[in-house]
Parts: sequence; structure tokens; C-alpha cells
Amino acid sequence: MSEQYLQTDILIVGGGMVGAAFACACLGKGWRIALVETREPQRSWPAGEVDLRVSALNRASQRILERLGVWDRILALGASPYREMRVWDAVGGGTIHFDSAELGESDLGHIVENRAVQLALWECLESSDDVTLHCPAGLEDIELTTDAALLDLTDGRRIGARLLVGADGRDSQVRGRAGIATRGWLYDQHAIVANVQTKEWHRETAWQRFLPTGPLAFLPLLDGRCSIVWSVTASRADELLGLGEEDFRLQLEEAIDGRLGAIGEIGPRAAFELRMQHAEQYVKPRLALIGDAAHAVHPLAGQGVNLGFLDAAALAAALDEARDSRRDIGGLRTLRRYERARRGDNILMLAAMDGFKRLFSNEVAPLAIARSAGLSMVDRLAPIKHFFMRHALGLGDDIPPLARP
Ligand SMILES: Cc1cc2nc3c(=O)[nH]c(=O)nc-3n(C[C@H](O)[C@H](O)[C@H](O)COP(=O)(O)OP(=O)(O)OC[C@H]3O[C@@H](n4cnc5c(N)ncnc54)[C@H](O)[C@@H]3O)c2cc1C
Repeated sequence: MSEQYLQTDILIVGGGMVGAAFACACLGKGWRIALVETREPQRSWPAGEVDLRVSALNRASQRILERLGVWDRILALGASPYREMRVWDAVGGGTIHFDSAELGESDLGHIVENRAVQLALWECLESSDDVTLHCPAGLEDIELTTDAALLDLTDGRRIGARLLVGADGRDSQVRGRAGIATRGWLYDQHAIVANVQTKEWHRETAWQRFLPTGPLAFLPLLDGRCSIVWSVTASRADELLGLGEEDFRLQLEEAIDGRLGAIGEIGPRAAFELRMQHAEQYVKPRLALIGDAAHAVHPLAGQGVNLGFLDAAALAAALDEARDSRRDIGGLRTLRRYERARRGDNILMLAAMDGFKRLFSNEVAPLAIARSAGLSMVDRLAPIKHFFMRHALGLGDDIPPLARP
């Protein structure tokens, strides 16, 4: 490795939830780690304020964050458990109800603010001598050689690493500069998010109504409000964002079928463009992609960051094994173990979310009747329903050690 470059073992680009979790999973193992992030994480916010960006974390993610020693801090910053989930179809009338008690679990997961998860992970990184944080800094150039990844940063530093990890989100520069193509498409859907007050208590339940224009979810927050994720066509999103509060309230009440009574105060609204995207490769010699840099999925089942945490855990497991058997952590043999562990699982989830999105966007009468009948039938078939619940909770057998009970 050239002497012009600061030398490190693992260099992570992107310190969002997934990149920071992966960095935490690498601590205490004798590796020198560098993390490059363009934006400082938010350090504080007014008491009682809930951010627009929240995620539903499942049990597997909770276990990973517990093992990394940050879960208690996330709970202290505020996390709302949801114990039930009610899903219904606006067109055919089919319904399905998931209850954590049926599986003997205390909850189906937690709704957490993304910034709280990121902050807890950064505090963990800042308390370690193993990691150097380069923030704010971005990428200027990348060169992958046979024995190192060489990076030029925007702050003028040059870093050489045995392994480069791209955790820089769905528009990943690392992926682009490494010449890794993606497959996928834009959904012509945008997700509108906002925090809203409802007359009736959310009952620690995640509510989701499938409308022909896209799903609408009400996720329970700790303060009694709900975080909404409303997927609509791009033009409808513009229209909804442009409405005054009163008109937006009426449209929202109608869209959720009045399930939670009258809607009260509505916080600021924002919209996110949705796409389905999958990297053709997750690894190359000296390089691995994790989280949204590798895959972006429709938020209708709240799986994006849950898949990303499993990537982080699986890559950490592959590196542990390489270390134990004195293999190169940036070599293809090591990195392919990670890719094999995650790619198939992610493809299944991407295909399932895409299938759901298409199935529920279809108003053709026989299809609408069949899918509603299917929902209600699965609701009555306990073994199948429990299989779906276990999978959504991330309780399958084939999961990386950090996510196991
Ligand atoms: C409306 C909506 C609702 C969602 N709800 C859920 C949910 O309920 N549950 C769930 O599991 N998932 C959900 N998701 C998906 C989830 O938000 C993403 O999967 C998750 O944020 C991905 O995390 P990440 O760390 O991989 O990427 P990101 O969150 O995109 O983080 C990437 C980081 O890299 C940094 N970065 C980017 N480029 C560079 C660069 N060149 N140099 C240095 N740093 C860089 C960025 O600043 C950022 O901090 C939702 C998504 C949307 C849009």
C-alpha cells in the first residue's frame, strides 16, 4: 500500500444506521477502522419532538442492537413497541390481524426515530479507540487494487484499507465508482410522511390500509400520536403536499377509513420517492456493499433497515471467521460468504414487497376479490399466519450470530 495513504483495516463510507451498526460490530477485534460520513448526526432535539423519519425495527434488529450494547440507549431516547398489526384491503374488504401474543412474544417490534438509532451507534463508536471518524467528509476518488482499496476524501485525506465497505445509501457513490450496476425501477410512487394526532388511541397497533393508489400506514408513537407513511402516485403526492391542513386532514381521514376517529393536529409533511433497486453484486475484491447501497425496497412492510442490519451482522460474521482462520478480510473468499448469506434472502424480500405492491395496486375485480379472500383465509390459517409473523420478526433459523437469541 502506498505510503501517501493513511493505513487502516476497514474503511466504511456512510455512517447512517447500517454503516454505524457495522462499525460497532467490528470493535474490539484488533482491527483499525475508519468511517467517513458527509453529515454530522443530530446530537439533540427538543423534548417531545418526534422526527419525520422513523423505522419499524423487528426482533432480529433489536437483538443486533442489544448485542452492540446500544438498545438501552435507544429505549431511553424513545421507542414505541407495537404489539399488533391490522391490515385491510380498501377494495375487496379482506382483513388480517397479527397479534404478538399468538407467538408468545411481548411485541412485534418497535417504532424508533432513525436519528435516535444513529446517535446511539455514534456514541458507541466515539467511546472506542479502534475507530477514526472522518466527518464531515465525502468521497473524491476510489481505486481498488489487488491488495488495498485506496480512497481520496473531499477533506484532502487519503486512506488505504484492506476492505472498503459501501454503506452510503441507495444513491451509493461507492457502488457507482466501483462499477457495480443495479437492477430495478422507480415505482411512480412517493411516500408522504407526517406525525398526526388521532382521536382514538392507536392501541400500540400498526394499522395499514391497502388502497389502489398505494398503502397507508399509521404507526404508533410513544406520545400517543401516529407516524403516517402514505404511498401515492407522484402527482397525487404533489397535490397532497400542497393542500392546507384542513383539506389534508379530510383526505387522510377518508383514506384510513376513519379507523382511529377524527384526525387532530398534523405535523410537517415530507415526501420520499420510492424505488425498487438491487445491486448486481454485493462484493468485489476489497469491497462490500451493505444496507440501501445494496438494495432498496418498498417501505410497505417496513423491512429496509431490518435487512440492512442483517447485512451488517452477516458481513461482521464473515470477517470474524476470516480472522479466526487467518484469511484476508478483503479477499473474495471471505466476502463471498457474506454475499451468499444475504443476497438470496434480500431477493426474496424485494420480490415479495414488489409483488404485494403490484397485487394491491390492482383494481381488476376478480383479482381484488381473490386477494381479499386470500388475506382473510391466511388470517384464519394459524400455521401460515405464524410463519409470516416469524419471518417478519426476523425469527428464522438462518440468521447471523449477532441476530440469534
Ligand atoms: C418513507 C420511508 C419509510 C421507511 N420505513 C421503514 C421502516 O419502517 N422499517 C425499515 O426497516 N425501513 C424503513 N425504511 C427504509 C430505511 O429508511 C432504509 O432502509 C435505511 O435508512 C437504510 O439505511 P442505510 O444506513 O443503509 O442508508 P442511509 O440511511 O441512506 O444512510 C447512508 C449514510 O451515508 C451517508 N453518505 C452518503 N453518501 C456519502 C458519501 N459519498 N460519503 C460519505 N457519506 C455518505 C449519508 O449521509 C447517510 O448518513 C423506510 C424508508 C422510507 C423512504
